[in-house]
Amino acid sequence: MKWHCQKRNCIIVVYMLAVLLLEGCSSFKKQEMVSRTFVAMGTVVGVNLYVEDEQQGEEVQTLIAEKLKELENRYLSYRVEDSEIWKINHSGGECVQVSDFLYEHLQKVWEISEKSGGALDVTVGEVTRLWNIDAHADAPEGFVIPGKEELAAALTNVGYEKLVMEQSLTMPLGMSIDLGAVGKGIACDVIKDILLEKEIPAAVISVGGSNLIWGQKDDGMDWLIGVVHPREEGSYLGYLQVEGDCFIATSGDYERFVLVGDERYHHIMDPETGYPARSGLCSVTIVSDSGLLCDALSTACFVLGKEKGMELAKQCGAEALFVEEDGNFTMTDGMKSLWLKEE
Ligand code: ADP
Ligand code: MG
Repeated sequence: MKWHCQKRNCIIVVYMLAVLLLEGCSSFKKQEMVSRTFVAMGTVVGVNLYVEDEQQGEEVQTLIAEKLKELENRYLSYRVEDSEIWKINHSGGECVQVSDFLYEHLQKVWEISEKSGGALDVTVGEVTRLWNIDAHADAPEGFVIPGKEELAAALTNVGYEKLVMEQSLTMPLGMSIDLGAVGKGIACDVIKDILLEKEIPAAVISVGGSNLIWGQKDDGMDWLIGVVHPREEGSYLGYLQVEGDCFIATSGDYERFVLVGDERYHHIMDPETGYPARSGLCSVTIVSDSGLLCDALSTACFVLGKEKGMELAKQCGAEALFVEEDGNFTMTDGMKSLWLKEE
């Protein structure tokens, strides 16, 4: 996703005059953008803050980087020894106490899993590990398509409904949780709280495919967010024009994948089959007022396909854009009102 500004003719002229007048006053300070890019939660994070005080911007960037590290290490990562998810995955079927933070988030994830009929299922961990697309996307040489029996065995250990959650959590032996489909959205929600608390007037945050568009810049212009073309690297299908204070997430089969001949083995699994989802889609973009919901829905709708995905997005009060393999795309009415086509 890419963002930049769009001109709005007359409004901007009036606005420029106001800016010139205000610049005459010594008390007026213009916003500056401070940018930082770093790796966290297994992905590239972009933190672009619009602030009057550059130093404050840098402090908030550091705070955000530390918070993401904490999120990963303390709660969400199945790779980090002693994180809460790691402990659950190594609980051997025993009951584990979980923090209020993780408990509340898992409950929200469960709700979306239920509404999606299991298309979103974070207990898909044994299946994702078997495919290991994340590692092979960078090193396809050693990639082997898992055997049917192996997949069938892994699938017996998938099923969010088998978890028992009553302030503590009990997970059957053999099962494992992988929060890859929702963690980046949760991170965006957490960052929003920091921006609110620190009174940052405007920001664009990207955590992999999950984005937070926050506030308004002092030029008063809307944000323009580019939706990546799933098959033409470096180009955009079109743009979303948003006012701010919203989350946008995209899940696509072009993000992490291995090509075997013409067959694309990507990282979004269908928990029913154990294979990468084949729903006729190559990407789904969701806009809503929750980072978690956006991230969860982009994955779930990708698995469900256009028709069922559309129903689910509407049921959850989110806007959705579905890009099909043949290049056609479909969107909810609310998404249409945000959409600007690539010229
Ligand atoms: P990205 O991580 O590229 O933003 P997604 O949000 O769609 O993409 O999440 C995909 C990740 O979620 C996978 O890498 C895997 O860890 C996990 N995953 C894959 N399929 C599912 C699924 N059906 N339900 C829940 N998690 C999934
Ligand atoms: Mg997702």
